[in-house]
Amino acid sequence: MDTKDINLSAELKKYFGFSKFKGQQEQIITELLDGKDIFVLMPTGGGKSLCYQLPALISEGTAIVVSPLIALMKNQVDAVNGLSSDEGVAHVLNSSLNKTQTKQVMDDITAGKTKLLYVAPESLIKEEYVDFLKNVKISFVAIDEAHCISEWGHDFRPEYRNLKGIIDKIADVPVIALTATATPKVQDDIQKTLGMNNALVYKESFNRANLFYEIRPKVNVDKEIVRFINQHKGKSGIVYCLSRRKVEEFAQLLQVNGVNALPYHAGLDQKTRVLHQDKFLMEEADVIVATIAFGMGIDKPDVRFVIHYDIPKSLESYYQETGRAGRDGGEGYCLAFYDPKDIEKLEKFLAQKPVSEREIGLQLLNEVVGYAETSMSRRQYLLYYFGEIFDPVKGEGALMCDNSQNPPTLKDATKDLKKVLEM
Ligand code: ADP
Ligand code: MG
Repeated sequence: MDTKDINLSAELKKYFGFSKFKGQQEQIITELLDGKDIFVLMPTGGGKSLCYQLPALISEGTAIVVSPLIALMKNQVDAVNGLSSDEGVAHVLNSSLNKTQTKQVMDDITAGKTKLLYVAPESLIKEEYVDFLKNVKISFVAIDEAHCISEWGHDFRPEYRNLKGIIDKIADVPVIALTATATPKVQDDIQKTLGMNNALVYKESFNRANLFYEIRPKVNVDKEIVRFINQHKGKSGIVYCLSRRKVEEFAQLLQVNGVNALPYHAGLDQKTRVLHQDKFLMEEADVIVATIAFGMGIDKPDVRFVIHYDIPKSLESYYQETGRAGRDGGEGYCLAFYDPKDIEKLEKFLAQKPVSEREIGLQLLNEVVGYAETSMSRRQYLLYYFGEIFDPVKGEGALMCDNSQNPPTLKDATKDLKKVLEM
């Protein structure tokens, strides 16, 4: 497409009502419309969706959006359909549709009405869909949450690994891959698997300067969390636990202590999960106690704290989960409880896994231990892990962690720095 003739700012205003692009959105969209493959690494809340939604809306044909979660797709489809007065601008294609609904989707695509088609990778594999999509006009392919391709990411989905072959069968069009996970390992893995070594890479800083990071030893954890929440009465927060049982127990304990809390985990039936999630979003519940099943794609801007009852299994998970705090730019307190015994438990659990999975798991866990035990700036440590150099004195948010507020002795700090450099 000849992008010189398009006034992107006007299109942004027209569809989204925004007056300015965020970060590098405009360059990304321009290059995509120009036919380039693009790789976008941008933190959660950075505005990745718009990087494919806007170009899809103004391109001829249908953009295929690969996304891992049905719930996530539904939210996005509703949002996109709300942007336009035309019908069928966005659709989901998956096994939950009946015959009539599937036909409607295909008719809309054939008629050129549908600008965005959301599919899960396991649906895209289906031969009937591939055959259909081969014969219609595709504008480009967007792969959202692209870290799902990598075992080094925090949410590996085996179905994502075959995407390259399927896309090649469907159309020869530009591909845009997007993720909020930016460790060099994951980045490399994504580019290799998708054959995107020549893609233009857009990486934004992963520094979330408004988040405060604190790690406490896991002693009297129940009491500590109840006290913390009572000090933040009426504020929205998430408490992450590793097991469903702990989620149930701790949600109850909070309720007994007068906190308006609800549990969320994959063992609850669909109706209860949706109900609890909605109550949290509508502020009928202040706190959600959850396993990692909660949060992907949830855009509640005013979450004021994220507490990790148990330390997560990787720094990616930690970063993603803490990243749900302060999305509006306001205060976000990230408090995690660390007990080396929990690490031992996780190691034992990993010991039962196949070798490759075990090795990856152990390495990710080691990095978590390093972070939890460090006495250097947590922000510096975390950003180093994402391949960024952060100035712990002058960088944005430099004082926003426990260690920076109570500087360690010089000796400890030198020891830690050595550890990081060996990472
Ligand atoms: P990500 O997928 O990177 O986590 P989203 O695409 O969900 O982020 O966007 C996060 C928020 O930013 C959304 O509420 C979105 O509407 C908003 N947003 C995106 N682009 C802009 C923009 N140019 N101006 C204002 N708000 C924007
Ligand atoms: Mg997103």
